[in-house]
Amino acid sequence: MIRRLIARLWPGRPSDMPRVFRADEHPVRRDQVSYAARTVTRRLQDAGFKAFVVGGAVRDLMLGLAPKDFDIATDATPEQVKPLFRRAFIIGRRFRLVHVHVGNEVIEVSTFRAPQNADEATDEHGRLLTDNVYGTQAQDAARRDFTINALYFDPSSEEVWDYVGGVADVRARRLKLIGPPVTRFREDPVRMLRAVRLATKVGVTIDKRTAAPIAKLAPLMQNVPPARLFDEMQKLLLSGHATETLRSLRAHGLAHGLLPLLDVILEQPLGQKFIDVALAHTDRRVREDLGVSPAFLFATLLWHEVLAGWSAAKAKGDKPQPAMFEAMDKVLDQQAERIAIPRRFEATIKEIWSLQPRFEQRAGSRPARFLEHPRFRAAYDFLAIRGESGEVPAALVDWWTRYQDASETEREAMLKPDEAPRKRRRPRGRGRRGTGRESGPDGGGAPPDGGTAGE
Ligand code: ATP
Ligand code: MG
Repeated sequence: MIRRLIARLWPGRPSDMPRVFRADEHPVRRDQVSYAARTVTRRLQDAGFKAFVVGGAVRDLMLGLAPKDFDIATDATPEQVKPLFRRAFIIGRRFRLVHVHVGNEVIEVSTFRAPQNADEATDEHGRLLTDNVYGTQAQDAARRDFTINALYFDPSSEEVWDYVGGVADVRARRLKLIGPPVTRFREDPVRMLRAVRLATKVGVTIDKRTAAPIAKLAPLMQNVPPARLFDEMQKLLLSGHATETLRSLRAHGLAHGLLPLLDVILEQPLGQKFIDVALAHTDRRVREDLGVSPAFLFATLLWHEVLAGWSAAKAKGDKPQPAMFEAMDKVLDQQAERIAIPRRFEATIKEIWSLQPRFEQRAGSRPARFLEHPRFRAAYDFLAIRGESGEVPAALVDWWTRYQDASETEREAMLKPDEAPRKRRRPRGRGRRGTGRESGPDGGGAPPDGGTAGE
């Protein structure tokens, strides 16, 4: 009675008792859950523990989508979980989880967690700093982000347990934060990004009360560690819905703090076109299950900023090659303050960028050598986006497309006359002694006017 009254007065307040939906009241069937996840839940239950599939997988199944992985929540501690399985590993320092390997699947098993007491564990903006206390299932539901992410499915009974009104929100196709939105966003500003990403990904609408504070709280993103932002951005951009999600991020005022450079780029028509083409290209590849490289994607997002810096440096008289490297470093450094692009991607990003001038060189032995470059394919895909966006002539892209497929003799015939006055061909009479720079025997990688690559 009282509980019902409270529920009516305070919708969205998590309850201590679940509402249990029987198999005939929801669409999820046990055979939609992977064999590994069923095995793990059954074994935990046979040992006397509670065990449910939880989170994104239940949400996706409830909405009729195919989950990408299955996470399990249990009241067993990691130490109790581990001995039940032959291949189980406790991982994580702060919050310990168990990875159970079944066949070639890895199932993440986490113990029910309690929300933290906000006073003790938050920074001055209300951001949660720790998150590592075991709790009851009701508490575990309450500490999750959105109601549709807090449903528990028991493959044995085929019941869905709902502590937060998630089933109703699935039916209404609504993304709603559990609890008071401002507090929950302050605890973890990344939830704002997740709201936009998940709503687009699974095709639901962000609830009005959840959406309302986002624009105002957007500056809190500044407070999120850059490495975490990279993970979320990567998920967002590789979701297969990058174009739409980015548009939504901008509409909610979130894009600004994330990719500061993007704001500038999107203001120029050519930049806007380039990003559109690049994101459409990525979305297509993700949907067709072709690989997408995060390095390639970040290279596209930042390219026009590099171009701008490069032209500016050349205009003030810097040599093209050093100017390019300087522009690249500057852009990456600036971006790193917000989103930490891992070092291992940076090398590839720079390579894709710095290879672009080589497409201008269509004389002599250079094109043939360029084809052999390990990153030729990525660089060429990048060139195609430049072409499609109008930054370089379509004829240039077309030339390289044909050149790759041409026979030896056709390639010969395609070569452009070698008319560029190259510095590497030592000018007769006035040598370039004293510069200390050797362009190497082939000058490979030199931009059109002959600087050396890879300095
Ligand atoms: P995806 O399908 O994109 O992986 P997901 O909802 O499964 O989406 P995960 O990052 O895998 O996202 O998180 C698993 C679950 O953990 C979520 O469904 C949610 O219940 C909980 N969760 C994740 N991030 C947060 C957060 N920032 N705050 C509260 N709960 C979270
Ligand atoms: Mg997930």
